[in-house]
Amino acid sequence: MNTIHTDVLVCGGGCAGIAAALSSARNGARTMLIERAGFSGGIITAVGLPYFDGLIEKATGRFVVFGIARELLVAMDAARPGARHIDDCRTELVTKFWGSVLIPNTDKFKLLTDSLIRRQGDKLQVLYHSMACAVETKEGRIAAVIIANKDGLTRIVARQVVDCTGDADIAHWAGSPTIKLQPLMPMTMHFRIGNVVPTPETNAMAKEVLIAAHHAGKLPEFYGPGLIFAFAKDEAYIHATRVPGDATNAADLTRAEMQGRADAWTIFEEWKAKVPGFADSYLISSGPYIGVRESRRIIGESVLSLANLEQNTRYDDAVATGCWFVDIHPPKTSVDKPFIGSGLPPRPYDISYRTLVPQKISNLLVAGRCHSASKEAGASSRVTVTAMALGEAAGCAAALAVAAKDEVALIDGCKVREQLATQGGGPFTDA
Ligand SMILES: Cc1cc2nc3c(=O)[nH]c(=O)nc-3n(C[C@H](O)[C@H](O)[C@H](O)COP(=O)(O)OP(=O)(O)OC[C@H]3O[C@@H](n4cnc5c(N)ncnc54)[C@H](O)[C@@H]3O)c2cc1C
Repeated sequence: MNTIHTDVLVCGGGCAGIAAALSSARNGARTMLIERAGFSGGIITAVGLPYFDGLIEKATGRFVVFGIARELLVAMDAARPGARHIDDCRTELVTKFWGSVLIPNTDKFKLLTDSLIRRQGDKLQVLYHSMACAVETKEGRIAAVIIANKDGLTRIVARQVVDCTGDADIAHWAGSPTIKLQPLMPMTMHFRIGNVVPTPETNAMAKEVLIAAHHAGKLPEFYGPGLIFAFAKDEAYIHATRVPGDATNAADLTRAEMQGRADAWTIFEEWKAKVPGFADSYLISSGPYIGVRESRRIIGESVLSLANLEQNTRYDDAVATGCWFVDIHPPKTSVDKPFIGSGLPPRPYDISYRTLVPQKISNLLVAGRCHSASKEAGASSRVTVTAMALGEAAGCAAALAVAAKDEVALIDGCKVREQLATQGGGPFTDA
């Protein structure tokens, strides 16, 4: 089997992984990023989700995350350079009710991440269409990660590894404790419908049609309708599908992907036949992947808890700030309840470096939605911008460990915080 050597290996190029890879390379480590899709961006590009949530404290409108997340937002022309407040974002891209901002085009995000990767030159090598599929461990370390792609199987020998797979694949295979708490939040297949002529009644009618389809047994589960005209006046972007399942089980993920696609088509056909304004519409695309909200999380050296959010626990080794509400989606349809999220937004809260540090393996960090958090706290810290902030911290820490010839598990989170501050990242919990 061919072997590639690198300083830092980042597995998964989603919200956390792209930030981790850039942060590691910019801090001087020879970095390799592997991603199963043909592009990076994770949920943003693979599912088509435009929201940069977890960026803005709802009560004040101020940013609580800067660093790479803000850089990406500005590069997408959604906020002005130096933006610090919701008012610095493009008005038409902002939803003040949620304290949320979105990017105008998720496909362009692929080009942006490609160009930022390329700009790192030899410091950052990326392999798309590459899946981490096994690990070799030795004496409490990851000795190699095995990847599968068109070259066949390749061993990647890295001094430090950052798991940004969303499912904690690497940590799990390496024998580090993880948890998968039932009931898991459902998966959702996003899709877009073109040539719609919306009216003020469209959303209410669309919902009635979905309820009828659900009762008639045509649509097993749904929520919302999650019907938004985010990208153009005549283009509906929909996240109404709801598919219970376990994304860490290949057969179940396959079933969910098929179900999500089928449900998207059912919704489209029902609306086209029954909702005025959809008569001449057409389904533009779904996917390409079903979105996974929750699967495994590591049980790390520290576990972010709901009490930490409520009591606003402070940590000297905080490396990021969270602020999104506790957003737990039930797996089943509840037609009588509007979807308004499941909890109040907490005050901005600290996230400790030790929530990225798994047990038992000394050269591994885990960032993004699978970092160490309880079900409730993870339902807040899982959102896109918080994931980017955690990824940026993990990449920075991995590079520090390489420079210090140390292990990431032994790096002092306070040092990571100091280094993040020099690159405009880290926690911004206080106003
Ligand atoms: C349907 C849905 C709707 C959501 N809505 C919102 C919202 O409105 N606002 C918001 O802020 N957040 C939302 N979220 C949450 C948020 O999108 C995710 O939690 C966030 O993307 C987490 O970032 P991540 O990097 O951990 O995971 P991801 O962005 O999913 O990235 C994981 C990456 O790892 C890759 N990968 C996985 N396994 C492997 C492997 N073994 N080898 C190589 N690559 C691998 C994947 O292809 C992917 O690119 C939503 C999530 C879902 C599923």
